[in-house]
This record gives sequence, structure tokens and C-alpha cells, in this order.
Amino acid sequence: MTQLISEPLHRERNCDVTDELAAALPTPGRMRLGELLVHSGSITQTQLADALARQARSGQLLGRVLIDQTALKPEDLAQAVQRLFSGFMTSREILQRMGMPNHHIQIALERQKQFHEPLSEVMRDWGLLSQEQVAKVIAIEHGLDFLPWSEIDDVPIESLLDSEIRLEEFRGFVPIALVRAHPRVRISIVISDIRSIAEATSQFRDYECHFHVASSATCQVLYRRHFARTAAALTDLMERHFLALRLREDLTQSGLYQDMFMALLRHACYTGASDLCLYRSHRIGMIKLKTDGIWALLRSVPTDLLDQMIGVMRNSLLSGVADEKLLCGFTECSLDLNTSRNEHAVRIRDRYADIVERYVFRVEIGNAVQGKTVTIRINDRQSTAVELNQLGFDTRTLHLLLAYMRSRSGVLLICGPTGSGKTTTLYALLQSVDPVCESIQTVESPVEYTHGLWQQFPLSPGLNKDEGDQWALALKGLLRNAPDKILFGEVRDENTARELFRAANTGHLVLSTLHTNGAAEAIRRLEDLAVPGEKAASILLGVLAQRLVRKLCVRCKVPDERQSTYQLLAPLGQRSMPRERDPIAFRAADNGCGSCGHTGYRGRRMIYELLHCGKKLRDQLETAAPLSALRKAMEGNSMRDNALALVAEGLTSIDELCAHIDLEA
Ligand SMILES: [Zn+2]
Repeated sequence: MTQLISEPLHRERNCDVTDELAAALPTPGRMRLGELLVHSGSITQTQLADALARQARSGQLLGRVLIDQTALKPEDLAQAVQRLFSGFMTSREILQRMGMPNHHIQIALERQKQFHEPLSEVMRDWGLLSQEQVAKVIAIEHGLDFLPWSEIDDVPIESLLDSEIRLEEFRGFVPIALVRAHPRVRISIVISDIRSIAEATSQFRDYECHFHVASSATCQVLYRRHFARTAAALTDLMERHFLALRLREDLTQSGLYQDMFMALLRHACYTGASDLCLYRSHRIGMIKLKTDGIWALLRSVPTDLLDQMIGVMRNSLLSGVADEKLLCGFTECSLDLNTSRNEHAVRIRDRYADIVERYVFRVEIGNAVQGKTVTIRINDRQSTAVELNQLGFDTRTLHLLLAYMRSRSGVLLICGPTGSGKTTTLYALLQSVDPVCESIQTVESPVEYTHGLWQQFPLSPGLNKDEGDQWALALKGLLRNAPDKILFGEVRDENTARELFRAANTGHLVLSTLHTNGAAEAIRRLEDLAVPGEKAASILLGVLAQRLVRKLCVRCKVPDERQSTYQLLAPLGQRSMPRERDPIAFRAADNGCGSCGHTGYRGRRMIYELLHCGKKLRDQLETAAPLSALRKAMEGNSMRDNALALVAEGLTSIDELCAHIDLEA
């Protein structure tokens, strides 16, 4: 059982950490005092947790606290201290070992002196450290395990499902696993702030507590997915409506329908949905959620209730808030409750601060023949703050991308359909740039993630102007602002393409997106936008095309024994057929399991291809090479190759790939 917990949670140590960080991780001989004492059997994990909590309150040295608690004999402490050598690191030392530049640490130290905030938190607020890195620092500093965001789908939460453990609200800690060992049951708890240990230890005093550190985004998502009762809250409000109907009570002015709509929105956000849709079909109202790229029915409700919900959203939450424009019966607007002074919005803002502050909502209202439809796109500002090395790029691609980001000029394009994770990649790329030494500026619509030291400009729609013109104008304005690195939302038309290449040609590195399926196709698309091959060749650094594919649920995936699968994998050097009990490819189980919502899949990851515009490709572009020649330039490293490699690793299935790319090619 212990294996169940330690295996996925410790994997971070073997793979994607940088060498500097690996050197900073607590290996034997470089442990923190607490960890060393637990390892040597001098104290238990619970005693350590208790002592750390006391230490956080009293500010005393850990050894002193443990001796005062009579958990530790003075001679054991002396021995442990001797064994530590000089392995005791401050957060400053950890940051240095992680490769943080000294001038970043220095400015954070100055701030720390003034305001007495933890060093790593100052650096996070300024965008010099990601939330993930802060969590790593805290974990190392206190000798605790680190749970990376990338392993959030792998926590063995089902061990908790039939237990009595409930969390009524989020208080900074989330239990993720239970191991029934003797004499006490061991519980794994995730925290993002060391101060949460005290409260967690007191709530779970009957258990042996084992703490992991994760970013606050990871902690919140774990809570939201596994403990928040958002579906039940929505049901309660709907029950209230049905009761009122039976009693002939009029609740239109009571705020019930606003709460119902917001409870629905909260449920959508908490379950990680990217879209929420309300529409009518065959005299019933349908409420659907799109999660991991797949739509599923959440509820069907009477049409009058659906109309009530759409009505309150339209009349009390949107009115006077959004810049609306009517296009073929559609109205596009944003549900911006943060700045609205509308009285309903103010009430909602207080009550639903957890979602209003964190998410960005774009609302599309349509007039279908059956009645009004509403589609809301949900952007989680925190989920886009992912580090480049967590996105799953191979080493060669990662090095090329980092080299592009060091360029003083040129264009890097990210391609893919809507919802393929382009924004996440763009932000991750920009985060590799030093925001102190370089000026990073963006034009976005909307700004999904704000960084402490970037200058970000939302596209403000002006009246009577084509959106493409607005983008081009915004870029012109930005260039007068002396940027080094530019993130420009989208290449939309000839006008924006022209301005973008002009900017790149005058000493700026420009990152942008383009709607094409593959990297080679982007070159053709640029030609359509009046950027000829030779011009593209001289300015383009690279074109990255990407998609998101669902990952197989690790709890219920089954071996894929189809001959056709192994034929597809054969060119990767795989055996033609798997040996018994040693399958290499998997597929989704027919009905999934509880932890994947019976879909067979949990979480997503990227598949990609990078068209590197090196000398060879430039020569090809100058001679107007056909698309097939451009595709050949990526042979062995195409999206199809990268995707099949994931199947061979058992991470996704052939069936899932078929939904996204052409495997016959
Ligand atoms: Zn499953």
C-alpha cells in the first residue's frame, strides 16, 4: 500500500527537475534536520508535524521544540546535527542552487527586509518564481515531499473515498491518501503553506500525518475536485425552486436564480470544465459541460427554469457590464463581475469571490429557433501559469524553444485549433525570459494570466472598427513602448500579419498564434496572408503546432492487444506483439472507473511538432518547396510520431489519437 502513495509522488525526483534542483533536493547527507530525524527513527512523522507547527507559531529552533515536547533526547539531536554537516539550507541557498539569478534574489531580499514576507513568496508575487517553484523551495526547506501539478491526476484519492473524511471548506490543506497501517492509519495531506500544518494536524489528530507540499493552485484544485459539494449545492437551490412552484410562491425577486446560476458556474469551474452551455431541446432545458475537450450532460431541467437562469444572467449580471455587439443573432460579451458596479454584481462578487477573482468568463448568447442559448467559455487564470519543462516537450524541442526565446528578433508561431493549449505554451515560453533585464509586453484579448513584471494590454474594442484593425493598431502602439519580447494574441489577417513581421524585422521577438492544423500548413497560411515564403524564411524562427489529447486513467486502463495498434507502433522500434503480462500499449476500459468519472481518461497532455526554420528549411522556402517537402523536414519528429510515442509509453490510446490527428498519413 505504501508503494501506492510513494511511487507516483516521488517520480518528480527522477525526471523533469533541472540538475541544479536535483542537487538541491534532500538526498541523504543533504537533508533537513526534521527529515533526518524521521529517517533515523528518532521521531515519527506526526511528531515532526507537531513540532513544525509549534515552530511556526513560536519561531524557536526545531531541535529546541522537539526537546521541549520530550519527543527527542538531547543526545539524539546532537548526533543528528553532526550528521547534517553543512546540509542545512536557507531559502536563499535553495534559490541559488535552483539557478535563480542573484539580481532576482537581491531585489526580493530588499523587499523582504521591508515587509518581512517569506523570500520565495515575494519572488512568486513578482513572477520571478512560479507557484510550483515556491512549493519546491518550501518542500526542500522543510524536508517534506513535493507534489508537482503534473501529477495531480495520479494521486491515489480513491483510498479516501469510502472513509468518513469530509472537508466542509478549504482551509489550506487537502488529504489525498489513506494507508491503513499499524498502529495508526496514515494519512497523506497536501499543503501549500507550512503554517497549515498546525490546523491539519489538529483536525487529523487520530491519524499519522504525512505532509506533501504543492502549489496553492494544486491544493485548491484537489479540494475542488474531491471535496467541494458544488453539485449538491446546485441541487439544493433547484429543490427550493420546485418547492416554491408547488407552494405557488414567487421567487423571482429573491436572488434565488442568480444564486442558482452562480452555483452552476461554480460547479463548472470546480470540476475543471472549459465550457458551460445552456440550451433548449425537445421541450427540456439542457445544461452541458465540456471537460478535457468532451461535452457531457450535467442536468436536464424544465425549460422555464432554464429561461429563468438565462434571464437573470442576461438582465442582472451582464447589463451595463459588457460591450456587446450583435452578429447573426449572437451577442458576445464578457461576464466581468470584478469591475462591475451593478448592485447584483456586487452581491455576487462577495458571495462567489472564489470564482470571480480567479476565472475569466466569455459569454456567447444566441437566438436559436428553440429559444435563447448561452455558451460560457471558462478560463482559469492560474492553470495557464505552467512551466515550460512541465508541458512534455522532448529535450531537443525544449532546447530549440529556449534558444528562440533568447533571440533578439524573429517570429515564433504557435498553431492549433481553439482549446489546444496555445496560451499555456505562450505564457510558459515568456516565463523563461528574465523580466527584470528585458521588457516583456503583450496584447491579448482577454488577458488570461497576469505576471508581476510584464506589461499586459487588453485589446479594448473600439466602436465601428474591424477587430483585425484593432489588433494591428494595438501592435503599432506597443512598438512605441520599447518592448523586447512581444506576445501578440493572434495573427488574424493580412493587416496583422504585415505588422507582426514588420515588428519582428525591427529588433523584437514576437510570439503569436495562428489557426492551422500543422506546422507546415502555417507556412501556406502565411502565404495566403501575403507573407511570401522567402520573407517568412528570413524572419521565422520556428512554428510549433500542438493539440491536447486525453491521458488514460492510470487506475483502469487495459492492455491494447489489437494487431493494428502494434502495426502503427512498429516503426518506433517496438516489438510486433507484446509479450504476455508485459503490455506496452493500453486503451481505455469500457466503463472506466470511479476516479475517471467512468470515461477511462483523466487529464490531458500535449502532442506537438516543431518546424525549425534552420538553414535547410530556409533554402526550401526560398525555392517555394511543396507542403510535402516541408512535412518531410519534420520526419521522425512530426506530431504523429510524438503522439505514437505517447501510446508506446502507455500514456494515451490509439483511439484518443484518432480523434485528433490522421494516423494513416
Ligand atoms: Zn478510471
